[in-house]
Amino acid sequence: MLFTFFNCLINFFKKLLSPPFCFNCKKFIEHRIVFCSTCFNGIKRVNSFRISVTQNHWMNVFAVSNYEYPVKSLILAKAWQNRLASKALGKLVWAETNLQNVEFDILIPIPLHWTRYAKRGFNQAEEMANEISKLSGKPVLNLLKRQKMTRFQFLLFKKARGQNLKNAFIATTWAKEEVEGKHVVLVDDLMTTGSTLIYAAKELVKLNPASITAVVGARVV
Ligand SMILES: [Zn+2]
Repeated sequence: MLFTFFNCLINFFKKLLSPPFCFNCKKFIEHRIVFCSTCFNGIKRVNSFRISVTQNHWMNVFAVSNYEYPVKSLILAKAWQNRLASKALGKLVWAETNLQNVEFDILIPIPLHWTRYAKRGFNQAEEMANEISKLSGKPVLNLLKRQKMTRFQFLLFKKARGQNLKNAFIATTWAKEEVEGKHVVLVDDLMTTGSTLIYAAKELVKLNPASITAVVGARVV
């Protein structure tokens, strides 16, 4: 009895300090879920697709939806340091893509360059990966480093995009033993041109993984 009372009290204060709102329309919702039912029903899911990494390597990509609302609101929230939105995006990727039906061993988030990380205070892809890890029981390993400050891909013409990302990623020295023979999942918030995922995967291919799959919150079409 007393326990139930204290539980209710704790929940009351939790809601008071951080009330559960829909991440898209900001409507108050009873439980902490990502979207209210109206926004959730508005998600237009997309099929998975394959992109080429090298001549002999392909990668399946899972996205929840195209880059449109309501999922877009979670991706944009990183600009104002909303870490909760990134966690919600991770939950959504797990619940609403085919990832649950894929056999995988490790999750690798696409890293931010340290200067961008310092400015934002967190990496949205890493927050997502941590959330997927909690739900799947698979570990997150930060095996890639961003050694070059890249410009935003969508600002560049197609030819410049590859140049922009060439040598952008480097695997850590201990990555080979973690990746070799493993089914790897790359995690990112948004796929714009696909080049970021491709160049990260190119670096991992050198370490002989069994397969590489990528998951993103949304894709730009
Ligand atoms: Zn809503």
